[in-house]
Amino acid sequence: MKLDSPLQFVKGVGPRKAEVLAKSGLETVSDMLRYFPRHYLDRTSVVSIGELKVDQSATIIGQVKAHGVLHGKHRRYEVLLDDGTGSIALLWFRGVRYWERLFKKGQIFAATGVVTSFQGLQMIHPDLERLEDDSGTMIHAGRIIPVYPQTAELNKVGLNSKGIRRVTSFIFENLKETISDPLPATECKARQLMPLHDAVKAVHYPESREQVELGRRRMAFDELLGFQFMVFRNRSEKEATIKAHSYSDPGEKLTRLREGLSFDLTSGQKKSIKEILADLQRPEPMSRMLQGDVGCGKTVVAILTAAYLAENNLQTAFMAPTEILAEQHYRNWSERLNEVGISCGLLTASLKAAQKKKLAAQCADGEIDIVFGTHALIYDYVAFAKLGLVIIDEQHRFGVEQRTKLYTKGDNPDLLVMTATPIPRTLTLTLYGDLKISTIDTLPPGRKPIRTVWRTDDLRDKVNRFVVDEVRKGGQAYIIYPLIEKSEQIELENVEDAYKELSGGVFADCRVGMVHGRVKSAERDEILRQFREGELDILMATVVIEVGIDNPNATIMVIEHAERFGLAQLHQLRGRIGRGEKQSTLVAMAHRPISDIARQRLDYLVSTGDGFEIAEADLQLRGPGEIFGVRQSGVPELKAADLSRDRDLIESAHQLLEQLFASDNHLDSDRKRLYNYLDRMTSSRITNLGGG
Ligand code: ADP
Ligand code: MG
Repeated sequence: MKLDSPLQFVKGVGPRKAEVLAKSGLETVSDMLRYFPRHYLDRTSVVSIGELKVDQSATIIGQVKAHGVLHGKHRRYEVLLDDGTGSIALLWFRGVRYWERLFKKGQIFAATGVVTSFQGLQMIHPDLERLEDDSGTMIHAGRIIPVYPQTAELNKVGLNSKGIRRVTSFIFENLKETISDPLPATECKARQLMPLHDAVKAVHYPESREQVELGRRRMAFDELLGFQFMVFRNRSEKEATIKAHSYSDPGEKLTRLREGLSFDLTSGQKKSIKEILADLQRPEPMSRMLQGDVGCGKTVVAILTAAYLAENNLQTAFMAPTEILAEQHYRNWSERLNEVGISCGLLTASLKAAQKKKLAAQCADGEIDIVFGTHALIYDYVAFAKLGLVIIDEQHRFGVEQRTKLYTKGDNPDLLVMTATPIPRTLTLTLYGDLKISTIDTLPPGRKPIRTVWRTDDLRDKVNRFVVDEVRKGGQAYIIYPLIEKSEQIELENVEDAYKELSGGVFADCRVGMVHGRVKSAERDEILRQFREGELDILMATVVIEVGIDNPNATIMVIEHAERFGLAQLHQLRGRIGRGEKQSTLVAMAHRPISDIARQRLDYLVSTGDGFEIAEADLQLRGPGEIFGVRQSGVPELKAADLSRDRDLIESAHQLLEQLFASDNHLDSDRKRLYNYLDRMTSSRITNLGGG
């Protein structure tokens, strides 16, 4: 048997199974070996049900006590698993019919998943392993059983974990070649990584926990190397490009705008502007990220940059993720820009068709220098006479495609992306290695640190009275409600019920407004305007207000269900207050049950106001996908690697790629081979093993 042999000829596979495997992208022996276990079962990691905690990721073993379909808001299949110390509900929202046939009372299963709580403990869509005939091997100490990702289709033809183990074991017994390693042996050794063949075997057939980890680390390294290779290749392509436009030295308009500001720029802002202008003057297009904690004043840096463009007869497209934000930028800046002879436009989806058309025409004629807008900017009818710069605010809110689409409206324009979520260094290396970075590490003077506390919800009355007191003293307050992912309905009930209850009750003497995702944009804008102008005391809102809103008089924020938010998001929300002279206070209200992780998050939020520290902690507590929204931001879907655990591997892969891409470097044949291999792998997205 060879690595490229079709799976059909593996003993026990046959045409029917082969067809199902092919549907999952598994056609050859090599594909099968790349089908990695999701996790491993060993006796030491099994937790008794009685000891489970909410949010814990755990494996349990128990007996089926009852099972059946439940009807309700969502049809679901529920299995009650019991191990003598307690019981837990396993839930499936899909494949009900399949599960119905699978379970029998009395059977023993191992289930792995995250524990949640809803009228008792539960696991949603856990990984399952039936143990009845396997229990002998389970008890056998030291035996580690790989559990593979499962689908109903694979299960149906007998390719559950056990079936797949049979296939991989046959492959290892009969494979006539070793998987050739694209990574030169010297590099492998220097990094204490397993050779590829051994690593693949260790992943499928580990003899110990340590071996699993060693195999995983090698796979993780390859994954990170491949991903970063793409980033490097991207960067070197950009560096080889010469842009069509060019710039002269800063002139009169930029100076006048700068001198007309009502404040002095902070040192971080000055440094960033200097870096940006120097970069613009280079022959290749700029790709730069401007990062800095929420409220540090990134907008003015972007505006001054755009003014510099206008001075050079070049247009800027300034894209923001929400209409509120785009309008706020436009309203705050268009007048001042006009005064120095720079024309502005605002393009959002809610404009009338005729207005859009007019604006697009002005844009295409080059009459407008700076166009602020939302996603509406990327539509085909929008064209630019001479687009020199694309600015993307809150860039992690946009998908790669959206950013690209706007970018290609110019002829290699310069690019400035901004983010208020400070990004840990490991992530910048991995994700943004092709961007240069400017960091604003100073806050405008006079900001008072925000007082942060977290409370359990039984103290709500006290907290509400505190809000009322502050309003009496002339303050304004935000009360924030979470979006509940699974059901938009519940979200509305939350904020709407609370609004009804509180505005007629404890807040009866206050002027209260409410916004959430279903409030029409005209109405929402009106409410936000009223709040900004002090016509409302309390704004009750879902997280729609997270991004960008600026009201220096708002000094109080209460976040309901704070236990459901991630750290970075809590910090981002907190950035809405503390913008004026007065002391600001955030009260994070947590509802029981509060998991250990949630407690840790809240304690951490209280302990620091530093966005970079918070970003690092968030990465460790939650992982990058949750911070950035995996697909959205181009965070790779990593199977083996873990961006917070494998920092050393990220650095190590980075360093190897720096060698491969060093322009003055003559690569030896091993390295040349590695380069070509990575180039091929990442271009075709075919993940064949070996074949270096
Ligand atoms: P972010 O970096 O979060 O986008 P903004 O650009 O919205 O922050 O700025 C936050 C607030 O700080 C705005 O009200 C802005 O006018 C103000 N600001 C920005 N720079 C300074 C400065 N150097 N001194 C005083 N206030 C500033
Ligand atoms: Mg901003």
